[in-house]
Amino acid sequence: MLSQVKVVLVGTSHSGNIGSAARAMKVMGLRQMVLVDPQCEVDAQAIAMAAGASEIALNATVVDSLEKAVADCQFVVGSSARSRTLSWPMLTPRECGERFVLESEQAPVALVFGRERTGLTNEELQKCHYHVAIPANPEYSSLNLAMAVQTLCYEIRVAHLEWQASAFPHQKDTVDYPRHEELERFYQHLEKVLLQTQFISEDQPNLVMNKLRRLFSRARPESQEINILRGILTSIEKVSK
Ligand code: SAH
Repeated sequence: MLSQVKVVLVGTSHSGNIGSAARAMKVMGLRQMVLVDPQCEVDAQAIAMAAGASEIALNATVVDSLEKAVADCQFVVGSSARSRTLSWPMLTPRECGERFVLESEQAPVALVFGRERTGLTNEELQKCHYHVAIPANPEYSSLNLAMAVQTLCYEIRVAHLEWQASAFPHQKDTVDYPRHEELERFYQHLEKVLLQTQFISEDQPNLVMNKLRRLFSRARPESQEINILRGILTSIEKVSK
């Protein structure tokens, strides 16, 4: 189950952090690291910091966009020290661990971390179903990247152990949820139709689209429901031709 969990590091610039993150993952039983547009190599510094976990950094998948990293995932959580700036659905680290254990029974899931200096962009954060913030000192809330990885992977481990011991209820969710790429195709279709009907304007499509993304993140539509919505959009396209 933990093998379905991807730890996605976006735009990392210090190779030592990649190594430390690999170590943080391995001690918690996670193995799948994805590097999005890394600004450094997996070099000697990374290997040194990884200690016995260098294979995780060396085998990391490298892609050029967050979309590619999470395309096959059914559940994506972005971590940010700046909680609530976007007012997005939030999870506590504990809830995040529990959700990952339940969701990863079904399909790949991703926990996303941002750049050392600037974190994740709003656009990247809007691609996530939920955000998670480690409730640190409000006056100094930003953890070192690898330490944030450690803290959140620890919560996944604790939830996994509790799940194994059946300490928290787990009814297997048989509902089929869309993968990230399916959801993105729906948003593109929605935007296209709303531009066509002039509900949104070419110069500021994001204003409404971001609110709609937030609405659908909250509602968590099932695959079947997305298909119905796609069908509605297609029917609108037919009559407005
Ligand atoms: N100055 C940046 C901090 C980046 S720290 C900012 O304002 O976002 C690098 C990454 O570690 C962040 O993008 C986030 O993924 C993670 N991180 C650091 N502190 C965190 C916290 N308190 N809660 C959740 N994630 C955190």
